[in-house]
Amino acid sequence: MASEEETVFEGYLHDVTQMETSGNNKDYFNCYLQTSGDQYRRCVVFDIKKHGYYVKAAADRKPLKIINAGTILNKFIPGQLDIRIYYASTEKVLMSLDFGYIEKPSIPNSVEEALVPEYVARQRLEVEQQEEVEQEQEEEQEEVEQQEEQEEEQEEEQEEVEQEEEVEQQEKEEVEQEGLTTVRGQVYGVQLAAQRQCSSCHKWQLAFNLTAINHRCKACGLLQRFGSYVQAVNGTLMVNKGDLKLPLTLTSTVLMTYLSQNDLQELLADVQLVEEHFLEVGLFVIQYNAKNEVVVVTTGNV
Ligand SMILES: [Zn+2]
Repeated sequence: MASEEETVFEGYLHDVTQMETSGNNKDYFNCYLQTSGDQYRRCVVFDIKKHGYYVKAAADRKPLKIINAGTILNKFIPGQLDIRIYYASTEKVLMSLDFGYIEKPSIPNSVEEALVPEYVARQRLEVEQQEEVEQEQEEEQEEVEQQEEQEEEQEEEQEEVEQEEEVEQQEKEEVEQEGLTTVRGQVYGVQLAAQRQCSSCHKWQLAFNLTAINHRCKACGLLQRFGSYVQAVNGTLMVNKGDLKLPLTLTSTVLMTYLSQNDLQELLADVQLVEEHFLEVGLFVIQYNAKNEVVVVTTGNV
């Protein structure tokens, strides 16, 4: 590329060619612009609508000023710049130039031009046009990437908003937890039941023969070893809260936590042992929620 950008050219048009079509279906034509008494610069015109005007301007030998043009590497002579005329380029007819119209010699501008066949020149032009198309595509790709980046940023912002909402949700849950009731009282009654859950279909088993080695699931019919069933023990604790007799639901999860924290898992061998444990200890500190479900149970002696 030229170090200083040429955009305005003055001269006379010569030898406007017929329309050519490049390999990527872009039409163009060539001509020469006589820019001095003895210099003829090759032009490439991609705006084919200019063809009629250029043919006539050449025939009329009009002195022209071409504005908003550019340069393009000569296909024959490396490093030499031809004039490139764009769609946005405009032509003005001048009153005169300080040099006259001189018929372009039929001899080639250079030896190289004579040696390079026209089809080779066309191929080179196609390559350049292809590069231009690729550059446009790259620019479009960049735009797409920038857009994707923006969308990513928006997604990140969205995630931040969601995280904030999550924090708010957690705070809300904490408030609900703060709404838990804690009672320190005597367990005066307890009713627990052992249930076993099928390891395959997860259905609870109503009748479960503890003396059998195997048990057939009542729901899916799968015969399984006793130990394959997931054990759950849950029920109701009756607690005195002042003068109130409070029935609280004890879930298996909370009970298992209590038993493991107090190293009492062996009591699970017989559910009645667990029930008797609650009555023997007597005093408990129990946290329960609005649905009267026990959340935490600890012995009142701690
Ligand atoms: Zn089952």
